[in-house]
Amino acid sequence: MSKPDVLAVAKLHPFYLKALESVYTVHDRTHITDPAAFAALAPRIVGVAGTGEASVPRSLLAQVSNAKVVSVFGVGYDGVDVAAAIEHGIPVTHTPDVLTDDVADLAMGLVLSVGRTIPQADKFVRAGQWPSGPMALGRKVSGARLGIVGLGRIGKAIAQRASGFGMSIAYTARSEKADSGFKFFPSAAELAANVDFLVVITPGGAGTKHLINAEVLKALGARGFLINVARGSVVDEEALIAALQSGTIAGAGLDVFANEPNVPEALWTLSNVVLTPHMASATTETRQAMADLAFANMQAGTSGQPLRTPVPECAALLK
Ligand code: NDP
Repeated sequence: MSKPDVLAVAKLHPFYLKALESVYTVHDRTHITDPAAFAALAPRIVGVAGTGEASVPRSLLAQVSNAKVVSVFGVGYDGVDVAAAIEHGIPVTHTPDVLTDDVADLAMGLVLSVGRTIPQADKFVRAGQWPSGPMALGRKVSGARLGIVGLGRIGKAIAQRASGFGMSIAYTARSEKADSGFKFFPSAAELAANVDFLVVITPGGAGTKHLINAEVLKALGARGFLINVARGSVVDEEALIAALQSGTIAGAGLDVFANEPNVPEALWTLSNVVLTPHMASATTETRQAMADLAFANMQAGTSGQPLRTPVPECAALLK
């Protein structure tokens, strides 16, 4: 018997792909260049497999309208047109919680890296510079003021870790979380003006585009550091580069960029930034857990079972 057909809209992680291939025939959208061939396949597609950044536009959803689920490997799903998916009766799922620890760990890793200049220190030793003099001093992290933009699952996990470093914690979000015990600021600029390290961990998409702009960076100030583990779209990258070059802020730790995997050359050449390749959830353990959950959602969706982790917009409709 032939396996049901699913459509991969991006290069899938091998753990997810392997699980899917045990049950489905997986078609890679990027390999199907002939529109007629895709039109013939599209009505047979029972599920769409994506990644956190992959685009699932309205036009694609209209073509695969027999699909029973869009299963995203990632917690962010800003590339998926959820409103169009709902109109076509195709629920969207994602992989929350299983990656929270890793992303919070990397956020703290970047805080320590930029504050204590760990990557620069590594280069200093490897370049044989140690005998000729001490490095410039770093910035103390323990006891510093941390601001979190987005106090959701991951933001709270960052706060928990930062508490262990004796940091004072404040945040901004769409709404105040009175039970958090942390100080709330109604805007990113007000938060930035009151912290030493500003960590961004909101979803991407239109609602947060350039939330971190020139005004916020100015408020963060010459002794302040920006950490972005959210999405590249949340930070105005041009304004950030200008702020780093002019000393408007002290430095930045960046896991995400506006046009991945392309990182502006201006950032490579700056000594006050630490750059990582969108790897906040990239551990073997977490990528396996994400693959297991994304696969479970695909199987549930295509077999009419309750979905494990629908995105909030769809969860509300499925109740
Ligand atoms: P949650 O939905 O639990 O939390 C999101 C938080 O962002 C909420 O506190 C929300 O506020 C806040 N927020 C949303 N819009 C705004 C806004 N306009 N202004 C201020 N705050 C806002 O998500 P998670 O914590 O699980 O994940 C957050 C994001 O992290 C993901 O969507 C993804 O983009 C990113 N991510 C990045 C990874 C990486 O590899 N670098 C890996 C995993 C996730 P409120 O609570 O008031 O609604």
